[in-house]
Amino acid sequence: MNMTGESRYQALFEPLPLGPVTAPNRFYQVPHCSGMGHALPRTLAAMRGMKAEGGWGVVCTEYCSIHPTSDDQPYPFAALWDDGDIVNLAAMAQQVHAHGALAGVELWHGGSYVPNLASRLPSIGVSSMPSREEPVQSQRMDRSDIRAFRRWHLAAARRARQAGFDIVYVYPTHGYLMWEFLSRSLNDRSDEYGGSLENRARLLREVLEETRAAVGDRCAIAVRFSADGHGDEHLSATEAHDLIGMLGDLPDLWDLVVGDYYGEEMATSRFVREGALEERVARVRGLTRKPIVSVGRFTSPDTMVRQIRSGVLDLIGAARPSIADPFLPMKIREGRLDEIRECIGCNVCYASNYRGTALRCTQNPTMGEEWRRGWHPERVPPGKGGSVLIVGAGPAGLEAAHILGKRGYIVTLADAAGEPGGRVTLESRLPGLAEWARVRDYRITQLRSLPQVSMYLGSQLSAAEVREFGADHVLIATGACWRRDGRGRWHSRPIAGLYAAAVLTPDDLMHGARPEGEVTIFDDDHYYMAPVIAVLLARAGARVTYVTTNGSVSEWSHYTGEQERTQQQLLELGVRIQVSTAVEGFDGSAVTLGCVYSGRTWQQSAATLVMVTSREPREELYRELVGEESSAPALKVQRIGDCRQPALIAHAVFAGHQAARELDDPESSAPGRDRSVVESH
Ligand code: ADP
Ligand code: SF4
Repeated sequence: MNMTGESRYQALFEPLPLGPVTAPNRFYQVPHCSGMGHALPRTLAAMRGMKAEGGWGVVCTEYCSIHPTSDDQPYPFAALWDDGDIVNLAAMAQQVHAHGALAGVELWHGGSYVPNLASRLPSIGVSSMPSREEPVQSQRMDRSDIRAFRRWHLAAARRARQAGFDIVYVYPTHGYLMWEFLSRSLNDRSDEYGGSLENRARLLREVLEETRAAVGDRCAIAVRFSADGHGDEHLSATEAHDLIGMLGDLPDLWDLVVGDYYGEEMATSRFVREGALEERVARVRGLTRKPIVSVGRFTSPDTMVRQIRSGVLDLIGAARPSIADPFLPMKIREGRLDEIRECIGCNVCYASNYRGTALRCTQNPTMGEEWRRGWHPERVPPGKGGSVLIVGAGPAGLEAAHILGKRGYIVTLADAAGEPGGRVTLESRLPGLAEWARVRDYRITQLRSLPQVSMYLGSQLSAAEVREFGADHVLIATGACWRRDGRGRWHSRPIAGLYAAAVLTPDDLMHGARPEGEVTIFDDDHYYMAPVIAVLLARAGARVTYVTTNGSVSEWSHYTGEQERTQQQLLELGVRIQVSTAVEGFDGSAVTLGCVYSGRTWQQSAATLVMVTSREPREELYRELVGEESSAPALKVQRIGDCRQPALIAHAVFAGHQAARELDDPESSAPGRDRSVVESH
């Protein structure tokens, strides 16, 4: 063990009693969605177990439904409805315990928020309110419903204990049932559960006391709560402070968040920096003697240790940093700080859950593949030996080079550009995307300790040079370029008659083009690129019009939780926004725009048109090597990343990782299927 790491960061490795249990250190994986939940129990258990193996002292579930009236399908929540759920979650608790960590469960009832699509039960709420996304409303709870809810919560707490959990949550936050009771707007009851703060908090207090009585001798009780309330119309910051004061020492642990979930707590690095919750959490520190955990996308051990030493936090909470690097605590402990795979704050992880698939992470390609493919985030099996030439040092090429180097291959990595990183290097210079450079930096640091990998920059390779090089394997990772002709989702063919001299692509802008005057940006891509360019050009003084075929700015970024802030940002910068509109033509002085519904067209002045539509794989080199066949008999060559399939950076990193793992054995990591077996009767 490296003494520097141990002594400087010792405070992070002190055990901490939490009621009847003791956290072995200060690294706490707070509850986070996984897209696995009740649907993929083995996948879930292995993923959570991996965090414990990597040194997280506490590892929690995602939101865990206590009863079928809280059914969030199609999102794969966890559940403790019955004995089958106990078995599944016990598997997770066991894998967490196997590494000496504590397992926590976030008991949850969604209230009016959930539509109960699968269970077909009416949802319940403090009043009858619309669900978050579906056109259904909840049933207003009467006293018998309140009693039933308390019984369900109690039963779930007992099942949690039976499953082996050490920490049981009570969860009056994030818009769910017990939060509804706290809300001065939603709670219009005139009985002892409505009115004063004390009354509105009655249900929370009862559930806390009942949970403690049922499982408190063996499990710590945690409350996840917002340190600054939920907006004045629901629960002001003062009321939130009063409530923490009122209940202060009832739980064994406060897991503190802030009221603005998408805007701040879960915000991406485009909008919020590391440790942004500190001040608001510090303000409530004096209101309880119990330990506090909170998040802040912490990846810097210095920030972590400062928060512990200053007394703001007792435990360093993390969701995303633990996804990007399940071994973050161990690396700090062993003084291997430059090996930390830092989260870039892109929320691709969140987007996976939001679409009902198991977690994926831009930085950590093994995330979600621990059980399915048997991938370990830190260990790769040795290869069969030989040499590999990789053309292209973008995320796909860099990831492949570093994994192949670790597997013992002799790797040559060549890139035409003067610096490594490909699209990541270029995109990280756009507004708000600086942290994305971590995708490159982590891998470059890894390569430094791998003498069998050599990198040649400024080396544009032709097919003849690749053949001459004579490597045993060739990976083509030459990326993709943005199309200039408008072809994409809306236009299946190039737009006719474009005045090409004044059409720019994101590639032109990333290489320094800065148009002035009136600029129209056509977003048929629907993610971050077009709005980020709008910010770049608006800040540089251009008069920007953002045009999209969708109904809102950057519509796909709804999944990463960025949509609202993105649209807000463009409005604040004075960008003119035209939704449900397509660019149909451009003559150098005006764009022809069309309504996507009516087909009505009109002209609008524009000196420059920026096309953000689709990308063309840069596959010429691959084609020259293999012809029209999918493989060249004389040469073992394959293409990976954007030159095969233009997609997210996460896809490119995954493709590089997979190719490197499977180089000599394509079947080696065929995915297993996580499913429970139905017994015949
Ligand atoms: P990916 O996301 O798939 O990793 P990128 O677009 O980020 O792809 O990176 C592709 C890299 O490949 C770029 O840095 C580019 O300079 C490099 N490249 C493209 N063609 C060649 C070539 N013929 N020789 C060497 N490097 C190339
Ligand atoms: Fe961080 Fe992005 Fe990975 Fe999520 S997907 S953990 S935000 S790097």
